[in-house]
Amino acid sequence: MRTILITGCSSGIGLETARHFGRLGWRVFAGARSPETAQELQTSAGELNLRVVRVDVTADQSVAACVDEVMAEAGRVDVLVNNAGIGGGGPVELASLERGHATFETNYFGPVRMMKAVLPHMRARGGGTIVNVSSLAGRVALAGHGHYAASKWALEAATECVASEVKPFGIRVALIEPGVVLTPIFAKSSTPLTAYAPYERAVRRLWSLFSRQLEKPTQPSDVAAAIEHAVETSEPKLRYLVGGDARTLMAARTKVSDEEWVAAQGEAEDESFYAAMERLMGAGLFR
Ligand code: NAP
Repeated sequence: MRTILITGCSSGIGLETARHFGRLGWRVFAGARSPETAQELQTSAGELNLRVVRVDVTADQSVAACVDEVMAEAGRVDVLVNNAGIGGGGPVELASLERGHATFETNYFGPVRMMKAVLPHMRARGGGTIVNVSSLAGRVALAGHGHYAASKWALEAATECVASEVKPFGIRVALIEPGVVLTPIFAKSSTPLTAYAPYERAVRRLWSLFSRQLEKPTQPSDVAAAIEHAVETSEPKLRYLVGGDARTLMAARTKVSDEEWVAAQGEAEDESFYAAMERLMGAGLFR
């Protein structure tokens, strides 16, 4: 039976991915930093072949203990899915450095810690797959989202390097890049718009884009299916955009110069901003 270790399974994409692979008959080690409060996961663990393991991806010892536990029980990690992540932070001037550090500790150094712990075992076996859950924000930087985008851009760069480094050892690496997915991640940040003065404009526009995307949201199950595809396909790719919104935005952004992008995002008046975005990116994205 193939073994998969997934981080951040208490909710959202991680929970659904754990269930998805459990239903497919995999031996699933579902990581949660507080298993005792991860009730939905515990319920699924009782119904499917899921084993809940404690892991806080920001802590070296926790990561080492988790991987030791999986190796002791299963003797192998065929697939590692680095899914745990946090959002938010707001405009760069306003976001505390503490929040910036926390974002990088979780979204960038978390996957790095996990890869460092798992890769020696994969190399010893001569195979394995690592899937890093990035984001469209790892390709397209939106004003108001600086540290989050930066953490995902960093993850994208490191993943591209790791993919090349471990290829000679028979290890496959992929990036999953969803647009907006309907998960609890949005409810976890409840900062009011007024707290973002004088950058309310940028944050309001970002929220407006999210709201549009959430009208027809990608579901966590779509991301789980994309992860399965990345693991199983005989024609692997490095990057997988997930969701119509991600594909549309990425395709549009590649046709726009950096200078046009900065100028359009920096429009002082909302009407000029929406008009510029419509002209550059197509209608219906931001409102
Ligand atoms: P979510 O429901 O908030 O899930 C995030 C998971 O990460 C939770 O299980 C959370 O556990 C866990 N986590 C946070 N910090 C952790 C840590 N230090 N150690 C271990 N686990 C930790 O959000 P989601 O939307 O499913 O996010 C999953 C991934 O998808 C993230 O990497 C996110 O950046 C990415 N993503 C999400 C979207 C979207 O629109 N939702 C779009 C693109 C990419 P706790 O319950 O303990 O906090």
